[in-house]
Amino acid sequence: MASDDEISLLVIVVDVNPIWWGQQAQRESEFTLSKCLDSVMVLGNSHMAMARTNKLAVIASHCQDSHFLYPSNKLQGGENGEENTSCSGDGKYELLSIANNSIAEEMRNLMLKTEVRGNSNDTLLAGSLAKALCYINRVSKEMEVGQETKSRILVIKAAEDCALQYMNFMNVIFAAQKQNILIDACVLDMDSGLLQQACDITGGLYLKIPQKAALAQYLLWVFLPDTEQRSQLLLPPRAHVDYRAACFCHRNLIEIGYVCSVCLSIFCNFSPICTTCETAFKIQLPQMVKPKKKKVKL
Ligand SMILES: [Zn+2]
Ligand SMILES: [Zn+2]
Repeated sequence: MASDDEISLLVIVVDVNPIWWGQQAQRESEFTLSKCLDSVMVLGNSHMAMARTNKLAVIASHCQDSHFLYPSNKLQGGENGEENTSCSGDGKYELLSIANNSIAEEMRNLMLKTEVRGNSNDTLLAGSLAKALCYINRVSKEMEVGQETKSRILVIKAAEDCALQYMNFMNVIFAAQKQNILIDACVLDMDSGLLQQACDITGGLYLKIPQKAALAQYLLWVFLPDTEQRSQLLLPPRAHVDYRAACFCHRNLIEIGYVCSVCLSIFCNFSPICTTCETAFKIQLPQMVKPKKKKVKL
């Protein structure tokens, strides 16, 4: 058990991409977004019930917004009295019912205010992760002297990766690694190369779950234990990591490419000037990494 001086903060980032969840509801009606959120609440409640010092935050990653479901701005400001009366009386632990009410309420607000437009279908996952890092930073700054925070992020990923976010995503991963923040990923559908890298770099767990309907069980068995407890458990083996990088020109995933020796930008085609740092090729050419095929011919 953790001592009072150690605060364990779990930030759950849920992919609530309305297009993916809409298609999912058409494919199989048993596993819907509300079922997924129920599982998230089960995990969140279990985490908070494990120790008095455990803290929770839940962020919804939408295709237009990254939104805090818990803690919510509304709960903290002004409307406190109203919320407290609504959730007492049934013997439930208040902290848990406040969290659950906040998650359900904020999710409803988020879904009501969004209009899906044609061209913005990608989940803003990199932005949500950055928000999670900022929140973790704020919580650790607000600690009293002598208290320590141990933070981790769990991403519940639904929609496909977005190569456009490659740069932002990698920056977030390295920032997390520097702060000693673990990133775990629970993937519902397609494998995610970006999250595989995130988990591998930060020492987190990557799991593509075989049965979506059993999400709550996977969350409780695999992602509830913290790092210390994990070393004593027999968890799913590490996934193969897709370490391909996205080229800066087309955002395609490539294995071999040209690398600018000044800014380390990656390009799939040779270009005379690096478009990122605008260094001319004459100085850079001998240092450029060439595709392996050409080297063999030389
Ligand atoms: Zn390219
Ligand atoms: Zn460059």
